[in-house]
Amino acid sequence: MLIQRLYQKLIPDNSPDRFKIMYLLLAAVCLVAILAVSVAVITWNSTADLKSTVISNSERIVDSIYYTEVDAILTSKDRHGYTITLPESAHDSLDVRIRDMYDPLNIVKLLIINRDRKIIYGNKKNTPLDKECERHIDELFSKKAIVYDLNRDRTIIDLVGEKREHVDLAEVFVPIRHSDGQIMGIFAISSDVTRLMDKSRRQMLSSVQAQTFMLLVISVISYIFIIRESSELKLAYQKLETMATTDPLTGVSNRRQLLERVEQHFALLQRTAETRAPDIGLGFIMIDVDFFKQVNDTYGHLAGDSILQEIAQVINQELRQYDVFGRYGGEEFLAVLPDTQPEESRRIAGRLISAVREHSFMWGATAIHITLSAGVTWTDASGNRLDDILSKVDSLMYEAKQLGRDQVVFRV
Ligand code: GH3
Ligand code: MG
Ligand code: MG
Repeated sequence: MLIQRLYQKLIPDNSPDRFKIMYLLLAAVCLVAILAVSVAVITWNSTADLKSTVISNSERIVDSIYYTEVDAILTSKDRHGYTITLPESAHDSLDVRIRDMYDPLNIVKLLIINRDRKIIYGNKKNTPLDKECERHIDELFSKKAIVYDLNRDRTIIDLVGEKREHVDLAEVFVPIRHSDGQIMGIFAISSDVTRLMDKSRRQMLSSVQAQTFMLLVISVISYIFIIRESSELKLAYQKLETMATTDPLTGVSNRRQLLERVEQHFALLQRTAETRAPDIGLGFIMIDVDFFKQVNDTYGHLAGDSILQEIAQVINQELRQYDVFGRYGGEEFLAVLPDTQPEESRRIAGRLISAVREHSFMWGATAIHITLSAGVTWTDASGNRLDDILSKVDSLMYEAKQLGRDQVVFRV
């Protein structure tokens, strides 16, 4: 519902620019969606890659320390089953061996834990395990498999006692099994993977930049095509709108547009009744060309057309810019004058018919004399309907005809 309303607000039904707006919206949504999916896929892949690298490194360490160096870590058995032990004498050789591996694999902590969850090797030897470590070991015993955890932005103390901040720490807990499958010890290996993570972040950033660039190029090219198409559409639309509102012969408003604008002025007048002076209202002038049939009969229909065009121009020039004027019928025109006093309406009508009377209409070398008859009325829109005013001004115009034409009949 909300989306529908937003859509209608952004893309009005009759706007010729709707394809442009639609395209821009669609392109923006696609761009964001494609980039979001791509970031998610790259992140997922690089996290999975990192996980498998760190796990296989840890397995290699366990392999090299425990399974190859059989004599360093011993297996003992008590009534609960098997567990691992580390004779004091083996510590030094194990230290040397493990230190060789620290650097290339960026290991910052290595603990060997026995079945009873006691640290038998590592810098925290003989101290209880921290809560997080306990949780991971619980998980390892219940899954009976390797446990992996990635902790971002940690502060740690590395093996040489230095504090490292903002470290991405990968922790792997590898079970040591007896040949019968029982877990008798655990290697807990923590590696600093900040560099690896940074590298994958940089790769992701450059891949996203390249994708954004490509998508933008594609969008801009398509947008140029759309603009071209939509400006043609806009022209067609404007043409259509002009055709729907303008009289094709005279270029002034057609009857439909004329009545629409008059209705608007009439409604406005009713709304502003209390705020304006009582003698300010709408003047109506209905104009009909005298003996126009004769013009057609004498000079032909083309001459009649051309004279109608010229009459419209002459009248239009006499009116104010905010007056409403249009072709009401065949050779009838209606002028509606907003913000006008009654007497002023009569004066303007008189000016209009004088202007036409004095204008020299030419058809080839022949001058044609044209006169108009006009009915004029005025309203403050209180207590009348627009239809009644229109029929009143029409009958006033017929009175002018009956009185001998070329004149104005005014009555309020
Ligand atoms: P009156 O003084 O009584 O108005 O006489 P009139 O001849 O003007 O009146 P009538 O209504 O008998 O004729 C109007 C004429 O206007 C008839 C019609 O052919 C002509 N007319 C209407 N529209 C057009 C038009 O678009 N072009 C041309 N050339 N003539 C038109
Ligand atoms: Mg006429
Ligand atoms: Mg007529």
